[in-house]
Amino acid sequence: MNENSLKKTLSKLNIGDVRYFDSIGSTNDEALAWAATGARDLSIIIADEQTQGRGRLNRKWFTPKGSALAFSLILRPSAALRPHLSRTVGLATLSIADSCSKLGLVPLIKWPNDILLNGKKTAGILIETVWSGEDIDSLVIGMGINVYKTSVPPTELLQFPATSIEDQLGKKMPEREEILKSVLNAFIHWRERMATDEFIDVWEGALSFRGEQVQIHAESEAPIIGELNGLESDGSLRLHDIHDKSIIVRFGDVSLRPTA
Ligand code: ADP
Repeated sequence: MNENSLKKTLSKLNIGDVRYFDSIGSTNDEALAWAATGARDLSIIIADEQTQGRGRLNRKWFTPKGSALAFSLILRPSAALRPHLSRTVGLATLSIADSCSKLGLVPLIKWPNDILLNGKKTAGILIETVWSGEDIDSLVIGMGINVYKTSVPPTELLQFPATSIEDQLGKKMPEREEILKSVLNAFIHWRERMATDEFIDVWEGALSFRGEQVQIHAESEAPIIGELNGLESDGSLRLHDIHDKSIIVRFGDVSLRPTA
């Protein structure tokens, strides 16, 4: 990834400032620090390599050099969007899913924060908050997208199978910055629609395992098992248990797995 051409490509989009690193610990850490010192809305930190990339609960996110897209967007929510911030993970996952669809792939979202191609994890989202007292100052949305085959971690590091866009697409690979541009365009598109019913409908339509039996694991609780039914308007997941009773699963550190 070439810094100059990347910045030129991004300058055509309606986003904030851009900081590029050949190598960084974690783009989210850098973005959290930048957000706390007043970064503009939709500013972006992007790195070719992360040495301390993070998933949820400090699990590691693998981003070797020259292989992936790793970036963090800083969001300064408008007053109109503040009541809908629980939908942000949907905004992020839908944006990546849209850009995969434009490449001719068939992405599905493993609620809440992963994008699957062919049932395997291709991208993950980590959202963190900068607080100002009791209020949200800004959100940092970290995205890791496996672009080339070399981005896929060794199997022994994985709890869920992983793949890359290159694995699924074959040879006709676009440049990483073209994929980034497409994700950001989708992000801008869906952010404008984030408060609408259409947003929830499209997000729900992109969910993996709909109508299937899944289990939800949360820290220190017994797994919840049920049929994945859809989304509540705040983006919570709705399951039906064997008695056809609705179970609502909120965000937090929950991991969804098929039961089979
Ligand atoms: P989950 O959503 O599966 O609960 P996280 O969102 O916390 O997991 O992501 C971290 C996990 O993702 C790691 O523990 C590791 O198993 C897996 N992982 C790390 N890097 C990658 C990658 N580049 N592609 C796919 N999976 C990864």
